[in-house]
Amino acid sequence: MPQRFPKHFRLVPLTVFAILLIAFTACTEVAADPLGATPLTEATTPASAALQPKATAIATTAVPTTTPTPEPNDAPAVEGVTPGPGDTVEPAADTLPLLLTEAWSDVWLCADEDVAVEDLTVNTTLNCSVGVEVQGDTLVINASGIPNHDFESTLGCCAAEIDNRWVIPLDPQPDSDGELTMAPERGPVAFTVSGVAIYGPEEGPGGDAVALEHGLFEEDRQPIDLGVCGGHAGPGGQYHYHFDANCIHWHSDGDEEITDYEPSDLIANGEAELIGFAFDGYPIYGTYEQDVDGTIVEVTSSYRLIEGANGYGGIDDYEYVDGLGDLDTCNGHIGSTPQAPDGIYHYHSTLTNGNGDLGFPYFLLCYYGEIDDASIPVVNAGPLGGGRFPGGGPPPPRPR
Ligand SMILES: [Zn+2]
Ligand SMILES: [Zn+2]
Repeated sequence: MPQRFPKHFRLVPLTVFAILLIAFTACTEVAADPLGATPLTEATTPASAALQPKATAIATTAVPTTTPTPEPNDAPAVEGVTPGPGDTVEPAADTLPLLLTEAWSDVWLCADEDVAVEDLTVNTTLNCSVGVEVQGDTLVINASGIPNHDFESTLGCCAAEIDNRWVIPLDPQPDSDGELTMAPERGPVAFTVSGVAIYGPEEGPGGDAVALEHGLFEEDRQPIDLGVCGGHAGPGGQYHYHFDANCIHWHSDGDEEITDYEPSDLIANGEAELIGFAFDGYPIYGTYEQDVDGTIVEVTSSYRLIEGANGYGGIDDYEYVDGLGDLDTCNGHIGSTPQAPDGIYHYHSTLTNGNGDLGFPYFLLCYYGEIDDASIPVVNAGPLGGGRFPGGGPPPPRPR
């Protein structure tokens, strides 16, 4: 179960924040990358299992509407408008749940047809496949877990087509119960519009996989290597990103290979690219977006390594500094996006912080929105332990 703590936590000044952080605990470590480790018991469906039938379009038959289509005689009285016999009163477009509105309906990749891509580590071909359907008040995404671009499994070889199943609310809502849910420390914290898992910063040994990738420390517990675009394969063949993932919107100019990709290539696209969704239903955008003047800027995180730390200790090696970068403690902010011109809370893939150093937590560390614990996938041996803010220590008492 995710660990919870009072929402006002992220609003208190840094000094108070830092004191309170000491009160947090490290939770049970569950998932581990497979390298050199005893194989983990997989609670997820075996990689060889058949994929769920793929929806070619979002099924809308189950779309909940707040106002059922009335019979002519039941039509509500609207000032100045008297519905005549045979008139039907259509639900207003703004009564549609957010993710069923037009702007959000065609954001999925590999949904119209499978996309064949190559695992460059072993030169095999696999298919990116995404099916989206409405179930009650949730959107369910069934995906093969293979990215829409050539990729590298690296040491966790090899990625396999699996049954990723992601569930998010159709109408994401800000947290309202005074408790903020931490993202799991290990395993999926979110997923991409191509159906691929997004993991938190830490790997099995407990270090920050991204700091390791940048050579900030020596990993003497278990070898880890991230491939192109910040991803690699893990337990059960689950390909996942630890950072970046901007390349899902990258296109070769014809001669370029995915290994030629640079995140800054995406600046040329001119607007924020939707990368995926957190389990609270709020979107995750790429590293670049337009500022209020229309200039493309890099969005930065507000965490930094504590003095003397190098990432070997994972999340505990970082501290939040209000105002250091652009984003809050969860790694998001409210602003205009291509899908929500009037503004929406959204997370970002952050490559750097406000100082130009590592962009920890790279995607997100907690959930801004209401979240159903059932939305957080069960992987490997069991439910992932609740996440934590940097600092460790015992959890604070729950508010009564
Ligand atoms: Zn990993
Ligand atoms: Zn933004």
